Amino acid sequence: MLRVFIQTYGCQMNEADSEEMFLHLSARGAVRTDQLDQADAVLINTCTVRDHAEHRALSFLGRLAKWKRENPKRIIIFAGCAAQRLGKALQKRYPYLNIVAGAKGIEHFSETLDKSGLFATPGQPVASPVGLSAYVTIMRGCNFNCTYCIVPSVRGPVTCLPAQDILADAARKAKAGAKEIMLLGQTVNAYQDGTVSFASLLNRVSEIPGVERVRFTSPHPLYFTDELLRTLEQNPKIARHIHLPVQSGSTKVLQEMKRGYTRELFLEKIRALQAAGCHISTDIIVGFPTETEDDFAQTLSLVDEAQFLAAYCFKYSPRQGTPAAQMQLLPENILEKRLSILLNKVRDLADATYQRQIGTVQEVLMEEPHKGRSSGSFWVQTKTSHPVGNMVSCKVVKAEGTLLFCEE
Ligand code: SF4
Repeated sequence: MLRVFIQTYGCQMNEADSEEMFLHLSARGAVRTDQLDQADAVLINTCTVRDHAEHRALSFLGRLAKWKRENPKRIIIFAGCAAQRLGKALQKRYPYLNIVAGAKGIEHFSETLDKSGLFATPGQPVASPVGLSAYVTIMRGCNFNCTYCIVPSVRGPVTCLPAQDILADAARKAKAGAKEIMLLGQTVNAYQDGTVSFASLLNRVSEIPGVERVRFTSPHPLYFTDELLRTLEQNPKIARHIHLPVQSGSTKVLQEMKRGYTRELFLEKIRALQAAGCHISTDIIVGFPTETEDDFAQTLSLVDEAQFLAAYCFKYSPRQGTPAAQMQLLPENILEKRLSILLNKVRDLADATYQRQIGTVQEVLMEEPHKGRSSGSFWVQTKTSHPVGNMVSCKVVKAEGTLLFCEE
């Protein structure tokens, strides 16, 4: 028996990729452990979207030198986006590293394990236990070239998984107990499998026995087609929360970022989503190299207009190899100041959004006897106790911080 410790950095797609890689390891007799000192192998699945995430993964890899010295038969696998970006240089710098498996090669992970000669002949994979909410990857890669983003170069262009494989994966997870399926892709709503559109895929997943709710992340504003908006309106199993990154409120900066939409188009899309009952959260980059005070003021005004449920705000940080990395950076004190102004605004508006929910009815998937998550992604505390996994309809009577208190 081979005990594997898995360390995942980054987004939900990486969480899903770690599960997939573990399936291939389990076919070779591996079981998971959360005790590093008892592990025979370590799988580090890495992120390179921000410098900080890559440093954390490399620093963990550095600390494993001692772990490996204690038992040279131990195996270290470095996978994912940072592995793709840094490639062969890694084995030179960390000679004790056994396998480098870049993000573009996730589909070939099984062959990579076989080629290493370190594992037994594969048998039947053993899937990890499934929780109430399960990830299903539907596409990999990205066809955009946002000037600050390293994803297209480490993950490559879009490839969509066949719809029948996606439905089989979702059905297997629903059978194993998942009530909520989260469909994953870098521009998830651009999914297209010949005859199956993203809207039609959402409907089909929602019809799988046992599936109570379908979520998806991360969509792109350009792919909220009329068909998709109609599907959202008509299918109550599709969650009323959409995470839609905007990145800037200035059309000029959006063009320099090559995001492919204007401020006006973004606002038009979220108004249509809000009309369908959806709450919107977003990502915002503060201090892109060409961002002026006026551009930043437009981001603030967009936040006012958009009424986001939440906004994850980041200071711009250059990624080597991207076009924006050639641009002159803004001074750090300007980035700090703008970030702090934006965070305060976002916090105040989110408080108001929570207060506005008082009196509304929420559909809640219970994750604990008194606590669950609503379709709009609010955390909800119920007055009475319910079995975990049940869907409960309840009315909001109070909002405190980021928690809604409800009565059934
Ligand atoms: S849409 Fe832009 S930000 Fe998102 S992954 Fe693709 S290139 Fe990166």
